Amino acid sequence: MRQMNLCIDIDGTVTEPYYWLKRANLYFGKQLQPEDVTAYEIHKLLDIEADDYHEFYQLYGKLLHREAKARFGASEAIQLLYKHHNIHFVTARDEEMRDVSIEWLDRHNMPRDSISLLGSHYKANKARELNSDLFIEDCYGNALQLARSGFEVLLIDCTYNKGLLPENVTRLKSWSEILKIADNKAQIPYSELEMAQ
Ligand SMILES: [Mg+2]
Repeated sequence: MRQMNLCIDIDGTVTEPYYWLKRANLYFGKQLQPEDVTAYEIHKLLDIEADDYHEFYQLYGKLLHREAKARFGASEAIQLLYKHHNIHFVTARDEEMRDVSIEWLDRHNMPRDSISLLGSHYKANKARELNSDLFIEDCYGNALQLARSGFEVLLIDCTYNKGLLPENVTRLKSWSEILKIADNKAQIPYSELEMAQ
């Protein structure tokens, strides 16, 4: 068995990916549905200026993060992974979101060794610092950037991250699949948890 360093994104990876939609629709008078979310840049989807979305996020960001739901199976998978591996959350959220992020991870029983709030989507340096063995992401651009820097990435499938992938990025649909791949890479027999798909 090999102990690994697992880097895990937060938004859309351990949270449900469309949690901002309802409040953003209300605020901007839109009616976007999850299937309409085909790009990562939310302001483009809402057909508004980036500054206007930024203003909305300044007002509601903490509340959005606090009330986000967890992705199905994420908490159970992370608890199991934490038994064998180092868990490092690496998010593009700003440092001012530290308290709300920690409170959310605690409330959803997601144990960890560290959390890094980068305030930027550039994650390769942090992956290098943490000696990442597997980086779990939902952002297509981040996955490509990490792959180019030589890291192995698991990309959790969403409406907004379609596209061709290099060979060190694997697309998958659920946390139970992530668990199998991580266990396989660490040579742990997949027998600890039967998770529904
Ligand atoms: Mg994300």
